[in-house]
Amino acid sequence: MLQIVDVPGKSLEGYRSIVGDDVLEEIRELGQTMKGARVAHINATAFGGGVAEILQSLVPLMKDVGLDASWQVIQGSDEFFNVTKACHNGLQGMDIPFTAEMKSIWEQYNRINAEQFEGEYDFVVVHDPQPAGFIRFVRPHVAKHWIWRCHIDTSNPNPEYWQFFLPYINAYEAAIFTMKQYVGPGVTDPRIHIIAPTIDPLTEKNREIPLEEARQVVSRFGVRPDRPLITQVSRFDPWKDPLGVIDAYRQVKPAFPEAQLALVGSMATDDPEGWYYLDKTCRHAGEDDQIFILHNFHGVGAYEVGCFQTVSDVIVQKSIREGFGLVVTEALWKGKPVVGGEAGGIPLQVIDGQTGFLVRTVDDCAARIRQLLEDPELARKMGQAGKEHVRQHFLITRHLKDYLQLFRELAGR
Ligand code: UDP
Repeated sequence: MLQIVDVPGKSLEGYRSIVGDDVLEEIRELGQTMKGARVAHINATAFGGGVAEILQSLVPLMKDVGLDASWQVIQGSDEFFNVTKACHNGLQGMDIPFTAEMKSIWEQYNRINAEQFEGEYDFVVVHDPQPAGFIRFVRPHVAKHWIWRCHIDTSNPNPEYWQFFLPYINAYEAAIFTMKQYVGPGVTDPRIHIIAPTIDPLTEKNREIPLEEARQVVSRFGVRPDRPLITQVSRFDPWKDPLGVIDAYRQVKPAFPEAQLALVGSMATDDPEGWYYLDKTCRHAGEDDQIFILHNFHGVGAYEVGCFQTVSDVIVQKSIREGFGLVVTEALWKGKPVVGGEAGGIPLQVIDGQTGFLVRTVDDCAARIRQLLEDPELARKMGQAGKEHVRQHFLITRHLKDYLQLFRELAGR
């Protein structure tokens, strides 16, 4: 059987003071029209990663507005998850093999899980490639409407992978992508919907943390909250360019000798690449004790990340390649200007010159950080604009509304 994730309840009412009466009203009305609809979200993991983070909030909110929603996680073994990791990379364009054996493992686990999928539903939302084969292998009439939610960028997929996945994708009635540009070639049959990810403003990471409290927390790690702080929160990964961030910080240093840099990232025990790149980042930082390289093994969890974002003067996200960039959303929500790489979903969030600055090079990045440190009033204004931008476009309530609208459209109600 699939694992049913038991999520603690949430109340839409709690968001009223953040998004206002009209938004809540609209969601409640949509909820009324879809009352009792049976919805199953299916994905590959209950913890870690953006999808799980979103479902943690979305599923209880769907329940709160009257839907009969559940979240179910497929079961697999190491061999299956090795294959799905390759699928994730291959669908994003990596040049790696996809053998007949890998295809067969993927199909086999999809079949087993699909056969064990219990119940009947109005809507099944299948997240990402891991369980995408479900639609083929389930009993007939399990669900009225099938939706595939793609959280990755399939614009330039490895053809070997894409040819294999495309018939599955085209079997769905609707497909959701994060951005229009991420839709892969030949997705013809499902109705395509564009839905950007969102953050939940009431989680431990995103709720408002009093400045004094946040300052105390960062000082535990040796950071001086009375001095300028530049932060990037990211996995240690070449696409996030932590080395470039260090170079930019060094260019800022002559004008701001007291400036500090925090590179905050989380390490997964099963990600050897991450450890390698963390070491590389530490070597690049050398003996500079104003650079703080921190991760979950130092005790930096969701709450501490929120504290770093709250205390920082400037947040950097110098990605070279990016999915959506939830860390940018989180930073803007805390009223911080973001200097971000022009990649993936960052330009949707960093409106150049309004909510922060878009940069392509280390020199640009350094110049913009300096400008924001020199002009705290500009930084404050941009941060406020960023917060409003997130309030309008990237909060979980919008996500909930988008799903309800999609359901209503598919059901023809
Ligand atoms: N994150 C975290 N602790 C860290 C580093 C990152 O909790 O030390 C979180 C971060 O707050 C964000 C997510 O991991 O919610 C990363 O999502 P994003 O879309 O920015 O990047 P991805 O890692 O998915 O490429």
